[in-house]
Amino acid sequence: MTAPPITTVVFDADETVVDLSPAVTGALGAVLAEMRRLTPAAEALTVADLAEDWPPVFAAMRAASTLDIRRAALARSLARVGLGAELDHVAEIFFTRRFALSRPFGDVLPALAALRALYTVGFATNGNSRAERCGLAGEFAFEIYAHEGGLPKKPAGEFFAAVVEAAGCVPAAVVHVGDSWEHDVRAARRAGLRAVWLNRTGAPRPPGPPPEGEVRSLAELPDLLAGLGAGRVMAASPDPGAPGAAR
Ligand SMILES: [Mg+2]
Repeated sequence: MTAPPITTVVFDADETVVDLSPAVTGALGAVLAEMRRLTPAAEALTVADLAEDWPPVFAAMRAASTLDIRRAALARSLARVGLGAELDHVAEIFFTRRFALSRPFGDVLPALAALRALYTVGFATNGNSRAERCGLAGEFAFEIYAHEGGLPKKPAGEFFAAVVEAAGCVPAAVVHVGDSWEHDVRAARRAGLRAVWLNRTGAPRPPGPPPEGEVRSLAELPDLLAGLGAGRVMAASPDPGAPGAAR
């Protein structure tokens, strides 16, 4: 059985198209400055201390919305110095700064422009990164956000079913691109999509069936996808019976 031509390329957000780490570090710095303004007890804390409050909360609240997880992590940081009552105020500082600092990686906009000429290009995230608040307004034909309308997060099959429905094609005509081996490669392939692993750091590939492709930079994607299956021209074809490889 031959795979259908690729019609749609869908991108994970955080650490795939959104350079999240500096935004979070900067936002935690703003939170720490405010905590120090509110209490001298916060003088002993560092941004690294605040960052350490995320993993245990994330582990305990895996299925929760990323907004709720971030608020819980901030609550844990505030509780370190008796500032529990300041959560709403401090969360607002965090998110304002986090979005002000959220930017796409340098390889993103050129890759999206090239891919849009051949494919429907979508965005699908578990996280808080709204495309329009991360320098990506108007870049995608569709955007899928976990927890909107009760949609479960990746790795749930329902998440990828929503992606496929938005793409309007069969699952194997969709390529999902992301940095998480579990969420973006294994879960996408389990749902019948094809997957490209974005491995920006050159990490060793985890065990298990390989993805359809692996790239160090999104600049490699157009050539890789051309090798996997032809894209289609976005404009409606005057002849619906024409071969799909309209390149
Ligand atoms: Mg990611």
